[in-house]
Amino acid sequence: MSEIKKLNLIEASLEEIENIVVNKLDCKKYVASQIFDFIHNKLEFDFDNFTNIKKDIRLKLPEYFEIPSIKCIKILESKDKETKKFLFSLNHKFLVETVLLMHDNRKTLCVSSQVGCALACDFCATGTMKFEKNLTAAEIVMQLYFVQKELRKTNEKVSNLVYMGMGEPFLNYDNVIKSINILNYEKGQNISKRNFTISTSGLAPQIEKLAEDEKQVHLAISLHAATDEVRNIIMPINKRYPLERLKESLIKYQELTKNRVSFEYILIKDFNIDGSAASSLVAFLKSFNAHVNLIPYNIVEGKPYETPSKKEATEFYNTLKRSKINVTLRETKGEDIAAACGQLKIKKEKEDIESNKENI
Ligand code: SF4
Repeated sequence: MSEIKKLNLIEASLEEIENIVVNKLDCKKYVASQIFDFIHNKLEFDFDNFTNIKKDIRLKLPEYFEIPSIKCIKILESKDKETKKFLFSLNHKFLVETVLLMHDNRKTLCVSSQVGCALACDFCATGTMKFEKNLTAAEIVMQLYFVQKELRKTNEKVSNLVYMGMGEPFLNYDNVIKSINILNYEKGQNISKRNFTISTSGLAPQIEKLAEDEKQVHLAISLHAATDEVRNIIMPINKRYPLERLKESLIKYQELTKNRVSFEYILIKDFNIDGSAASSLVAFLKSFNAHVNLIPYNIVEGKPYETPSKKEATEFYNTLKRSKINVTLRETKGEDIAAACGQLKIKKEKEDIESNKENI
């Protein structure tokens, strides 16, 4: 006898749930709304706790529905309490990281969209891992649901989401957009689309597609260098979409959405922070309504790159300011908990290898 394909309750629409509730469970439509509310509002993922649904019906739910779960196996908090990092295990097989940033009374969750990353940016810890899989929309959503449930204990909540964790979100475009739509449900988390930012290494065709599909969603570009010569060294994707092509897509994006574009620029000592790097950046940004975040490099073990001094970072910042660029110099956050994307996963995998060796 073939098994019934269960409906994934994180990704299912209310209508899909209603269809099963009415036609298979022989219940009234409102039971579907109760199930939907347990999942997307009460953030309850155990059928046994769906307490206002009659017990005989509740016992039948697992026959038709499934709730993909992710297990949090580690939570680390930085000394300044502004950064919290969560390590999740998917199907007991894959590890992904999620970072909660708490500053300016705002809680922003940085979610992962892939396990590993194929783009191999040279400064990035995730770039050293092989690409393993795209996260499903449910796996992306569950990162937020877990953290939101934690924050509820102190009457707090995540207000903004950035797709800036592990992976290139535009290489998992459909699931990323689907996750945004789920989190935007009016009867669910109801997070405004304006509070989502997708961060990309610069995939020009998908930038143009986003501008067509989702005009409210914000865009951030991991730029890190404003000449092809330097960018090619640290970001291989630049050979496929050089700066001129990236610029063309961003101009189209701004024409269609009128959104300001954020640029992330990691400051690397003796690499991308001299006067000529600053001039190239100013020239590149001239075409846009832009804001630049300067982020001093967070050391990644095994990489040759170093963090610049505060003085060097400030000089670079001042040059941009003098050229009337909207710019913010960020502090390196959560160094003590390995906050740069991918570092915690690598640390955990190394610990597991070491403990396996000890157990042999
Ligand atoms: S910076 Fe982003 S795109 Fe580049 S390797 Fe790391 S995760 Fe992938």
